Amino acid sequence: MLTLSIDGHLVEVIPGQTILEAAATASIVIPTLCYHPDLSAVGTCRLCLVQVDGWLHELPACTTKAEAGMVIHTATDAVVRSRKFVLQSLLLHYTDETAGQPAVESEFMRWVRHYGVGYADGVARPRYSEDSDPHPLIRVNLNQCIMCTRCVRACDEIQGCFVWKLSARGVETKLVAGVGQTMLDAGCESCGACAAYCPTGALRDRSLLEQDRTPRQASDRFVRTTCAYCGVGCQFDLNVRNDRIVAVTTSAADTLNGLSLCVKGRYGNDFVHHPDRLTKPRVRQYLLVERSGPRPQDRGPWIDVDWSTAVEIASRKLSEIKRESGADALGFLASAKCTSEENYLVQKLARQVVGTNNIDHCARLCHASTVTGLSMAYGSGAMSNSMDDVAANAQALFVIGSNTTEQHPVFGAMLRQAVIARQVKLVVADPRRVGLSDFATIYLRHRPGTDVALVNGIMHIVLENGWQDQAFIDNRCDGFDDFRTTLAGYTPARVAEISGVPEAQLYSAAKILATNHPMAVIWAMGITQHTTGVFNVLSLANLQMLLGNMGIAGGGVNPLRGQNNVQGACDMGALPNVLSGYQSVTDPVVQAKFSTAWAVEKHNGASWHLPSRPGLTVTEMVEAAGQGSIRGLYVLGENPLATDPDSNHVRRCFEAAEFVVLQELFASDTSLYADVLLPGASFAEKAGTFTNTDRRIQLIRSAVSSPGEVRPDWQTISDLARHMLAHQEAQPVGHCAGWDYRDAAAIMDEIASLTPSYAGVHHERLEHGERLQWPVIHDEHPGTPILHVGHFTRGRGLFHAVDHLPPAELPNQDYPLVLTTGRVLYHWHAGEMTRRVPALLRLHPQSLVEISADEREKLGLTDGQMVRVTTRRGQMLARAFVTDRVPSGVIFGTFHFPGEQNVNNLTNAALDPTAKIPEYKVCAARLEASVPS
Ligand code: SF4
Repeated sequence: MLTLSIDGHLVEVIPGQTILEAAATASIVIPTLCYHPDLSAVGTCRLCLVQVDGWLHELPACTTKAEAGMVIHTATDAVVRSRKFVLQSLLLHYTDETAGQPAVESEFMRWVRHYGVGYADGVARPRYSEDSDPHPLIRVNLNQCIMCTRCVRACDEIQGCFVWKLSARGVETKLVAGVGQTMLDAGCESCGACAAYCPTGALRDRSLLEQDRTPRQASDRFVRTTCAYCGVGCQFDLNVRNDRIVAVTTSAADTLNGLSLCVKGRYGNDFVHHPDRLTKPRVRQYLLVERSGPRPQDRGPWIDVDWSTAVEIASRKLSEIKRESGADALGFLASAKCTSEENYLVQKLARQVVGTNNIDHCARLCHASTVTGLSMAYGSGAMSNSMDDVAANAQALFVIGSNTTEQHPVFGAMLRQAVIARQVKLVVADPRRVGLSDFATIYLRHRPGTDVALVNGIMHIVLENGWQDQAFIDNRCDGFDDFRTTLAGYTPARVAEISGVPEAQLYSAAKILATNHPMAVIWAMGITQHTTGVFNVLSLANLQMLLGNMGIAGGGVNPLRGQNNVQGACDMGALPNVLSGYQSVTDPVVQAKFSTAWAVEKHNGASWHLPSRPGLTVTEMVEAAGQGSIRGLYVLGENPLATDPDSNHVRRCFEAAEFVVLQELFASDTSLYADVLLPGASFAEKAGTFTNTDRRIQLIRSAVSSPGEVRPDWQTISDLARHMLAHQEAQPVGHCAGWDYRDAAAIMDEIASLTPSYAGVHHERLEHGERLQWPVIHDEHPGTPILHVGHFTRGRGLFHAVDHLPPAELPNQDYPLVLTTGRVLYHWHAGEMTRRVPALLRLHPQSLVEISADEREKLGLTDGQMVRVTTRRGQMLARAFVTDRVPSGVIFGTFHFPGEQNVNNLTNAALDPTAKIPEYKVCAARLEASVPS
């Protein structure tokens, strides 16, 4: 440690710290503008000048290293004079639009006011347009730019987008987004980081600007919560005014995302107040008419009813079906959008109240193969490491089947920075040239559906060169010999033929991945949504055992979970084969525990048993509804008509279902086939937890009132359960059997009491800011940032010998193209939320199909022309987007827009035989102009 004096205080600092950092340790505030702790220090604004004994001139505190024995003065008259001069100079060209509003004034104007500085020659005359860029979300007013370059550095050093630059010289110097370009032309991803870091308001969220022009109310508040979109789980503050969300802001102190967010998190919350929200329960008219016999063909119009009528009808009909056809005639679809507490209750409803394991959710459609494959190899199906750990400690990254910068954008930006700032070696493998490919040391464009061959080929080369970690394999793994025998057949020549990746690239990739340790593997649905999804995951699990990358910082297997709480929904047992914490429904010890805790006493004296046979998956339940063996479905917060493959078939199945209860924010394609529609609460209107992709359990908090009669979903589920128990004349008797929860925290306490991996998770700990990543095995346990340290969850890791198998449907003469599917940056999932955010819709207004220049030439298409894509199952219409992101012979579509614009009209419902996940990523398709040009 070094000792020095600041304003008469002796301060001890670590060698290498700056004077600014030294002063902060003594709680001495030195004003700054161009400095921000997240960004490189440039020392250009000179507001942080201090006097140091022995120096003739003042020194910038942000860039001057503290030295032993220094005597520093931070507030002498001379220093104050210098700061005033700096501020006055900056004011020369600055026009203040927050004057007289101290509550909303910029960081810059706060210092101006603090030092009592005024305009030397009256208020500056604007030199530029007050709104010089057409970006729909960010307002650019260069009259407020002081050239501190915080926006430039935020864009470069955090987002990795390099949009902003300084152009010209001297007084003509100004901020530009590429020469003659708009922000969007220059590659802006609309994350808003530049505005978040701007200390003056030159770059400003349009939403904040609008609000800052109106006076604040006494009820204004900032509510810290968790993003409702992707599995990164970013934290932000909902800015609430007059009971409405008016903006989103972030805190530099947040450990997960700091000031960063992506466009959806920062600007995508207008859906909360959208007039389309369901505000009252509704039932179909036929349900209000005294009648008997099967459901009429015409269900009649929707009739608004009160909660007790809707819940009574729903519970009576579900109970009737159970009485007539047994518990397994009902199916329950939980929701990755809802809280863990709500998902826990849905599976409790299915198992305790109804007595079926027919409970599943959309994890089946995104990461079922991850959960299955990793459980087989390691004993746990979750991401092994943490996002911050991977970004900070990996020496190499293998990103395969993940469009990280669009689907998990804040983590994608962290990966870009790992490459830029730490020179981490990046291998990207994807049939589609995703954004991270531009940062890759090597980009492998393999054919869709050839992942096993590709990874086997890489591992073949690893063994050929003796690059494997034999000590790790010997000490911690089984099954290596059979695995090695299988790999022998995956020679580079054969793999090149199957995958289309040249042999030389296979060698280069293998060398990078094997010789840079630790190496982290990252994947998403490009790996999982195949009929070989489990094999794909097993291959990656094999790779990480082969290279000794498990149980260490910077390594691991890192499947990126899609929706905000898909991890939590899985953890809570919203799956047909496991209860909360992945406790098997077939395990007698688990059965005994839950049977005791959840027991109900029946009026007729019948004893209650936990159902012990695994239930049906999402895809199987929908199919069973079509065939009549499932008569009733309860669906929470999902839209299977838009998200499941082969939507025409799904529609027929829902048409055939006898009784459907749907609990949702908005009417959807699925609600056309519902009998009871219960309005759901958005993430901003209720409390609970989401568990993000790296197993981090985080709170959401109620920030605004719900519209109309909407109430938190956990209350609705509890109400339904109580009514169903009453219909069955059953009373709770077990210690966790009841349904009278005080709040979401009480539900989490019940979860903790029954779930070993959540045993120490309580809302109170989360309120105190504890970072809890499961397993959290007791109340003092700090959580587990890295899994499989020292040993695997199953004991020894298990290699699996897996072979390449072709996709279920390959191109032929009639369907000569491969169609692959995914999502785009500006929309989310089936688009129910993002299509109700006007700015996002403006940025991406309709469905696009990506096609290569070859396809354009062959069919004589023009960019932007409407095209029809046809498969054996249906058609979609979309605009053609000609791009090199897809290779010749491959086209790409999305499911963000409903009806004829939805790619799921076309996708193949062929399933992975073990995980039952559909093959969304490959099917055979035909492309033609929808209106010939
Ligand atoms: Fe939300 Fe994900 Fe964007 Fe973060 S990266 S703001 S969690 S959508």
